[in-house]
Amino acid sequence: MTKAGYSDEMTPKERIAAVLAGKPFDRIPCSINPSYQAAQLIGVKHWEYYFSAEKIVEVQLASRRIFGVEAVLTGPGLHGIAEAAGSTVVYPQGENSPYISEFAIQEQGGLDRLVIPDPWTQGRLPLHLAALQILMERLGAEVPVTTNVAGPFTVAANIRGTEPFLRDLYQNAEFAHRLLQYALASTLAYVRAAAKIGVTVSIADPTASTSLISPQHFFEFSFPYLSELISNIKRLTDCAPALHICGNTKKIWLHMANTGAGILSLDDTIDLAEAKVAVGKSTALLGNIKPTATMFLGKPADVMREAKECLGKAYDNPKGYILALGCGLPMKAPVENVHALFQAAREFGRYPIDPGRLN
Ligand SMILES: [Zn+2]
Repeated sequence: MTKAGYSDEMTPKERIAAVLAGKPFDRIPCSINPSYQAAQLIGVKHWEYYFSAEKIVEVQLASRRIFGVEAVLTGPGLHGIAEAAGSTVVYPQGENSPYISEFAIQEQGGLDRLVIPDPWTQGRLPLHLAALQILMERLGAEVPVTTNVAGPFTVAANIRGTEPFLRDLYQNAEFAHRLLQYALASTLAYVRAAAKIGVTVSIADPTASTSLISPQHFFEFSFPYLSELISNIKRLTDCAPALHICGNTKKIWLHMANTGAGILSLDDTIDLAEAKVAVGKSTALLGNIKPTATMFLGKPADVMREAKECLGKAYDNPKGYILALGCGLPMKAPVENVHALFQAAREFGRYPIDPGRLN
């Protein structure tokens, strides 16, 4: 089956399923989220799609049409669950990303007043669910429809405030665990609703980065809740989620793999060849083009060069590899660089891969 304009033989859904099942596939999948770029190209302001399921859908359809993205995506992301729980999120009408201006709980006692947010009525969760439903109807047959959630550690930090929460780990571990239980339960309430629509899930837990906490704290405060979230996601969606943690995660790779995640999404500070040796037999790897140095400041030729480097290091990862960025795509990254990444996957990631062409 040949898709118009592309020389792909498989749909994105068939390809990623084959990669993760260890079956033959046409080429290395490419994962990137150029929603902001797609929105600009069709004249939608990004603060418009924060508040409209129709705009979210419009932008995701444009992303598929213009760039050929291999998954469409919307979800609570880093702030959505905390917002539904009562934190206040500001959505600037400019080049800045949304941020939290007031946290749901100001003191530890505030936790007792929180209730698990109903995903069909609280915050912006209903918008994501409505958009996911339409995306499933429009594209679900050939493109994975994904919802992105934060890991419980990041959700807890966004309910309590990162600094107070990191202090709680030392000063009141019992409270920190109760808050993490709440963050997990709130995320699961959303995931259960999304799973009924038939979507897959991806997780980012940036606050659990070892740039912010020790590997010991990761193991005590992030790992158990991530593992429980992931085992529930697997049961509810029949698919092991991708897990992204920012920064140099080398010291926690084994823990990350042991959460049961199907794909580890790794930052550009790490070496994919090293990760392949350490955890490649138990999990697929995703990454790790430099979002700023290459995608934002570089030229298409730089994107191609770095994509070849990543492919060379990880195309033969035992559990599979997905060409992608080391972290989120900067809002101002040029459109040509997004196209270049897909071109690299099609040109150099096609099977059988010739490692000689990757140098
Ligand atoms: Zn990151």
